Amino acid sequence: QLRIITRDQHTVSRKAISPNALRVLYRLHEAGHASFLVGGAVRDLIAGVQPKDFDVATDATPEQVRALFRNCRLIGRRFRLAHVVFGREIIEVATFRASSDDGSGDREVHDDGRVLRDNVYGNIEEDAVRRDFTANALYYNIADFSIHDYVGGFDDVVARHMRMIGDAETRYREDPVRMLRAVRLSSKLGFTIVEGTAAPIAALAPLLRQAAPARLFDECLKLFLSGHAVASFEGLERHGLLPVLFPETAKALASNRSGALRRMVIAGLAGTDARVAADEPVSPAFLFAVLLWPAYCRSLAQLEGQGMHAAEAQRRAADRTTLHLTEVVALPRRFSLPMQEIWLLQPRFAQRKRTGRFLAHPRFRAAFDFLKLREQASPSHAGDVAYWAELQLGEMPAPESHDGDDE
Ligand code: ATP
Ligand code: MG
Repeated sequence: QLRIITRDQHTVSRKAISPNALRVLYRLHEAGHASFLVGGAVRDLIAGVQPKDFDVATDATPEQVRALFRNCRLIGRRFRLAHVVFGREIIEVATFRASSDDGSGDREVHDDGRVLRDNVYGNIEEDAVRRDFTANALYYNIADFSIHDYVGGFDDVVARHMRMIGDAETRYREDPVRMLRAVRLSSKLGFTIVEGTAAPIAALAPLLRQAAPARLFDECLKLFLSGHAVASFEGLERHGLLPVLFPETAKALASNRSGALRRMVIAGLAGTDARVAADEPVSPAFLFAVLLWPAYCRSLAQLEGQGMHAAEAQRRAADRTTLHLTEVVALPRRFSLPMQEIWLLQPRFAQRKRTGRFLAHPRFRAAFDFLKLREQASPSHAGDVAYWAELQLGEMPAPESHDGDDE
């Protein structure tokens, strides 16, 4: 059931669309193809948010798209896509796809319902209903600047609702990462996940373990490094996803009566959000050091409880925590090593000797920022923070320089 929202009935303006995306849209249109801006960009523009990338949908095949653009390459295995490259900006052009399960096309479905490969071309309506949320299935037509809505997405965006297209449980089983997307997009946009879309998540959360760890890592970066980390974390807790994504952290938080560990995590995520808002760099290593600190502390306490010597227990706890994490989320070593270093340097702040050496340590700044978070959650570290803050004033002539070692 198509509803067309004409130009005078919506607020999406070409001025807010990237000039490169407009170039692609017009070129396809002039070549006689259907040409729509689609997905997150249309949703964000209606919701009044600046989109971070622009995707285009068309009835032209990837080969036809390539013939129209010199700066075009074809990518993807599960989804074949055309990328039109303008310097640093890439406009993704996808051919309308169906997810017909009549077995006729190039499509592969796993026994458990997961879709592995999905290259059946289709019409625009089929393309709309295979998307995840109604808000993500809106098409802005460059031919007349109208919005085509097959699933009620326009009213949902206006009402700030995240609603799964079709049966939510079935769609989560096809692709469990959609549970994280529901939390992430509702956190980013301040939308409410409607009852029927939220309800199945708690019971289906364990399916997330089937998702590729590399994909979960990417999803974590979007959840926590896009300026809405606190909202994302609270959403994961509320919907029962935290114990699947970060099981050791969830256990540690549940058994921490004082709540200090949770306060520390929230303070760290709030700091990350503030840095994103101020356009300052944020690092996955520091982020994961925050998210897994409760797990590390718990593991450390267990090992020390078994009588292990402190330094040895710290190393083991760091390794164990990293190993448990990477079974679910593939954190690359270039981030897990500095993450561990941030943890392992914490006891160093209690030792007030050879200070110049520690101040010059490449990871000093990140470790000190981390100590400040711990202090926000439990004031017992206030003395160390004050001591090392004062030393830095003496040592560092340019206090505003937040060196790049946490990038
Ligand atoms: P943002 O770019 O703000 O993170 P987005 O909605 O654009 O959000 P993308 O991952 O860029 O997210 O995906 C682009 C579009 O592809 C989505 O809007 C949605 O229509 C569709 N899509 C993405 N992931 C899925 C999925 N797992 N299942 C179904 N459709 C999806
Ligand atoms: Mg997008």
